[in-house]
Amino acid sequence: MERTVDLSPGLAPGDIEGLRGSLRGPVITASDPGYDDARKLYNAMVDKRPAAIARCADTADVVTCVNFARSNGVDLAVRGGGHNGAGLGSVDGGLVVDLSSMRTVQVDPESRVAQVSGGALLSDVDRATGEFGLAFPVGVLSTTGIGGLTLGGGIGNMTRTLGLTIDNLIEAEVVLADGSLVKASERENNDLFWAIRGGGGNFGVVTGFTFRLHPLSTVVFGPTLWHLDDAAQVLRFFRDYLPSARDTVNGYFAFITVPPVPPFPEELRLKKMAAIVWCYTGDPDKADEAFKPALAVAEPALHGVMTVPVAAMNTAFDPLYPPGTQQYWRADFIDSITDRAVELNVEHGSRMPTPQCTSHIYPVDGAASRVGKDDTAWAYRDAKWAQVYFAVDPDPLHAGALKEWCVNYYDALHPYSMGGAYVNFMMEEGQDRVRATYRGHYDRLAQIKGRYDPANLFHVNQNIKPAS
Ligand SMILES: Cc1cc2nc3c(=O)[nH]c(=O)nc-3n(C[C@H](O)[C@H](O)[C@H](O)COP(=O)(O)OP(=O)(O)OC[C@H]3O[C@@H](n4cnc5c(N)ncnc54)[C@H](O)[C@@H]3O)c2cc1C
Repeated sequence: MERTVDLSPGLAPGDIEGLRGSLRGPVITASDPGYDDARKLYNAMVDKRPAAIARCADTADVVTCVNFARSNGVDLAVRGGGHNGAGLGSVDGGLVVDLSSMRTVQVDPESRVAQVSGGALLSDVDRATGEFGLAFPVGVLSTTGIGGLTLGGGIGNMTRTLGLTIDNLIEAEVVLADGSLVKASERENNDLFWAIRGGGGNFGVVTGFTFRLHPLSTVVFGPTLWHLDDAAQVLRFFRDYLPSARDTVNGYFAFITVPPVPPFPEELRLKKMAAIVWCYTGDPDKADEAFKPALAVAEPALHGVMTVPVAAMNTAFDPLYPPGTQQYWRADFIDSITDRAVELNVEHGSRMPTPQCTSHIYPVDGAASRVGKDDTAWAYRDAKWAQVYFAVDPDPLHAGALKEWCVNYYDALHPYSMGGAYVNFMMEEGQDRVRATYRGHYDRLAQIKGRYDPANLFHVNQNIKPAS
């Protein structure tokens, strides 16, 4: 049913017509036929009605929008891939700077550098870099936006080998709250460069990222599945084995429901199981050696690894999580998984209410843990794991059950965590949670926010309040 849009205070319909006339890209409002499609977020549990969605064609359009929002006192949201669980790529009654038309990826194979536009998806990145047998570490689903993923940190299949996505960022081009366009790197505006590596979209609109590339075209990838009766044993093994393994061994632990489709065998379909999803980046001939200890822990129901291109790895699970599902999120950073935490994980992992619900325990040690603890805004270099409790289903009638399972799981495990969580795995959970996530880095981030965005124009995010 059509709801009207409550415009931000200070915004009159005529103002939007003025904005429309000054941009190269289209401006979409509630009176345009494409409005309902344009405002859709990946998480259908979040339903926002912006006053206008400016589909920016270029950096000049972004500058115009930022100036427009600042001068008119309009709430501003920045949309990269629109994946954010909390729906922070949109805002009720305000202006969305939609970067989805800015998806260029330029690769220089000689200097091993990729220039990526702020609205690119991981699929754009993998396709372009894979052509040259090069890669940098991104997330596990290719439909995610590089913008939000990178600014929050970027965890993925290759974190132990190549670090977080931000550990491979060389430079960013940023439109600041005053409308100016600056570069951020170790050499230029290095306080801003520090802050955007983990501090989210708090500091400006990143219209371009420059990443360092690595020669890596294929990996040995895929899941090993065990019956739930073996889950505790497998999780204890995972906890002990991964931190001692070489950086070439990546793998995340998961509770899953086996998808009811090939290549999964019929007898396993729709069964709840424990999994380790492997990504081995070393010599493929030595991959079996790396997996062997896991296969000896308990008889696997399936060991489905194979050599695949990096891009194929990052698209493998896309069909399981299409846009438009209901999603509820909670997360934690963890330094040790106690035996009691193992028991609680098995208890709650066994109770997933719908087939797309899952919980992943991603390793964030290896290469990621060798970056200095104060070198970037990411405040948990000492964490071994980032756990996400992810409740998903297409049916809005299941929203209550999703939330209940997710929050109960989190409430049970949170006491065994380090206190904060990965910003990109959180809903809007309040300032205490944001502070816990940035720990000792919060005050420095607030200072930098005060310098670059004193009026908090960029506040639709896991917000860092500007220090005065
Ligand atoms: C199914 C699924 C799988 C995921 N898997 C992973 C994973 O493997 N690893 C991981 O690290 N994360 C993962 N995530 C989380 C993901 O990183 C976050 O949802 C992230 O916010 C997505 O970025 P986006 O650009 O798509 O989001 P958006 O919703 O567009 O934006 C999210 C936030 O980032 C800001 N933002 C986005 N782009 C820019 C920009 N160019 N400049 C300034 N601000 C910007 C927005 O303002 C907003 O605050 C996953 C999410 C989903 C839904």
